[in-house]
Parts: sequence; structure tokens; C-alpha cells
Amino acid sequence: MNQTISTSALSEKFIQREEKYGAHNYHPIPVVIARGKGVHVWDVEGKQYFDFLSGYSAVNQGHCHPTILAAFMEQAQKLTLTSRAFYNDCLGEYEEYITRYFGYDKVLPMNTGVEAVETAIKLARKWGYQVKGIPENKGKIIVCSDNFHGRTLNVISFSTDPTATGNYGPFMPGYEVIPYNDIPALQQALQDKNVAGFLVEPIQGEAGVVVPNSGYLHQVASLCKDANVLFIADEIQTGLARTGKMLACDYEEVRPDILILGKALSGGTMPISAVLADDDIMLTIQPGQHGSTYGGNPLAAKVAIASLQVLKDERMAENAMEQGAYLRAQLEALNSPHIQLVRGKGLFNAIVIHHAEQDAAWKLCVAMKDNGLLAKPTHGDKIRFSPPLLITRAQVDECVSIIQHSLSVLD
Ligand code: PLP
Repeated sequence: MNQTISTSALSEKFIQREEKYGAHNYHPIPVVIARGKGVHVWDVEGKQYFDFLSGYSAVNQGHCHPTILAAFMEQAQKLTLTSRAFYNDCLGEYEEYITRYFGYDKVLPMNTGVEAVETAIKLARKWGYQVKGIPENKGKIIVCSDNFHGRTLNVISFSTDPTATGNYGPFMPGYEVIPYNDIPALQQALQDKNVAGFLVEPIQGEAGVVVPNSGYLHQVASLCKDANVLFIADEIQTGLARTGKMLACDYEEVRPDILILGKALSGGTMPISAVLADDDIMLTIQPGQHGSTYGGNPLAAKVAIASLQVLKDERMAENAMEQGAYLRAQLEALNSPHIQLVRGKGLFNAIVIHHAEQDAAWKLCVAMKDNGLLAKPTHGDKIRFSPPLLITRAQVDECVSIIQHSLSVLD
């Protein structure tokens, strides 16, 4: 891929070291970040950038948010990990806090996003066998094409992205893939009495911020209910104020049977994920049947409370809604021949690049980097624009002007 850009000798040293000693499972934009604060990050040379990726929406609250860091540092000096072999004095407080926050009976705490997805699938299967009465080993989960739910072998078993699956087989059975945003396909798939759950992203993130038709989630919820199938929403990327509501599901006032959260649950400080559900689902898992050494550790509990509280206290959903609409309007007003489409909700946005050159989106990202804004292409021609949610209107103006200026690299 084209990397004809100038990186300084210092940055180059860091990059070469990663290349030499690290696995090549990522292809980063050539910038070496050393510091972050709010919507900004700085590289090892001290150059400032707007962060338009926000750690794939883990840093919704902005880099190094002082309230989250204070909670982190206070708890880190007291107690960090007990394992779940014992109770600790923070977990119950967090469990009560998050279940009230989202209105569920119970939470199951995990660490990474994909672990929470695994947990949700396990829960749906258990519920399918123990409550719904699906015959042993016949349980099925419906998923959507172009999904992204993480990288474990089970979860890539139902990926439709050949880059994610190539030479990793054999794969886990028990999944049916239907097109995204396709109600008739879902109706058809739900005919099967052995379906336990439908796992879906309310907006497909990695696919390039694909927003379904208005009313889709509402129909999904009602079809699942009628078919006695669990509606499982993966809000790991769409959740926590990113789309202009606390959850993307809130747009259609639907309540998933199983809600999956991650990423910004820690404001980017550590891996924290969670699965929320009511007792009839959650209590199908008994002691010893699922767990994780770090899941529900006291440090994570305190950090997650602070991360959630900050979203409300600083009205981040409201700001995402307002600045997101403004950002999309300004991007559209550019009328660039290189931008085929601007789409998104709140501050979860993407542009689709229109250009003859295959690596045009990469080239644009490198130009934006040179001009002080960091973003990364996804699936070749799409670039996500998802800054931290505390961005101001004046900063959006500044960013749009950087984007406009950078687009000239594609002329
Ligand atoms: N689900 C969705 C919708 C995601 O966007 C991601 C990560 O981007 C994941 C799951 C996996 O999360 P993690 O990388 O923390 O395992």
C-alpha cells in the first residue's frame, strides 16, 4: 500500500520497532501518538491532531478524561483485582448502577467487546435450551451479512468478510446469515423453531457506518418477540452516546432482550464490557458455567461508573446529536467530487470515497494526518468520522476545513 509520506526520523524509529517485533495484524496510519487530551492527540514530535477515530469509539468521553482518570487512580491504589472467587466492595455498586442506568435486572461483566458477544451468544443458547425448549444442540443464532462482532474463532465463524476468516477454519456451526436491513429475510429465518436469538448491530460500524431504514429495529424487536426469539443488540460501537442517543436502539424506543456494551464503558482506559439482560435470561447461567478472571474487577467497576456518569453529566449524547448533524451538513456542503456519500447518526459518521484509485481513501487519510486530523479507512473506500463527543462547533469547523484542504490530494 502507498506510504509515500514523510514521517520524521523519530516517528520512523517507533514504527520500525513495531514492524520488527510486533505481529503484522494491523496496518496503521504512519503516526506515532504519545499523548492525548479531549479531542486531541499529539505525536512523538509534539504535533497536534484531532482524533476522528476515538479508538474505534472507545474514547467517546475524550482522551484522559479527568473524572474517569480520578476514579481510576483512586481505586488503583486500593484494590485492583480479587477474581470472582471472592466478593469485592465495588462490583455490587457497579452492578446496581449500570442495571438502573439501562433498565435491566442484571449485568454480566466481561472485558473485551468480543467476550461480551460470546457471553451474549452463550446466554441466548442457554435460554434457548432451558427456557424455550429447543432440542439439544439444535439452537441457532441469526446474524447479518457484513457484520462485525469481534475476532474470536466463534465470532468470525459467522463473519462474511474473507479477510477475517481466510485460513482460520473449521468454523462453529449454528449460525444463519441473512442480509442486513432486510425484514422479509428475517421473517423467513424466524420460521425455524430452533432459533434462539437474532444478533445485530443497530448501525453496522466496521462495514462503514451502515444505517438501516428507519423502523428496522422496531420491526426487528416485534418480529423477535412474536417468534419467541431473543433480540440481541451489539451496541459496543453504537452505544454510550456515540450516535446522539445513549443507545442507538433508543432512536426507535426498542429494548433489546440482551444488550451488549464495551469500548467507551471505560472511556478508553482499560477493556471493560458488559452484557445486560433480565432474570429469565441471565439466571440460566449458573456458577462455574461462564466467567473471566478480570471480569467485574473492582478497578473496572469504579472506572465504568465514572465513564457512564460523565456521559450524562456532560450531556454527551446531546452534543453528539448536535455536532454530528452539523458535521454531516458541512461535509455535504463541500460538494466534493471525491465524496460519494456522507452518512451516519450523531457523531458516528462515514464518508464513502468516489475515486478511480483503489487506495484513494488511504491517501486521503494520510493527507488528513499531515494536516492534523487522524482517521482510518474501513473496507477500502470508507472513512469513519467519529471524534470524541465533547467536540465543539468551532472545532468541527476547523476539522471540516482540514478535510476540505486534504481532499485536494485526490484531484
Ligand atoms: N462488536 C462491535 C460492534 C464492534 O465494533 C467491535 C469492535 O470494533 C467488537 C464487537 C469487538 O470488540 P473488541 O475489539 O473490544 O473485542
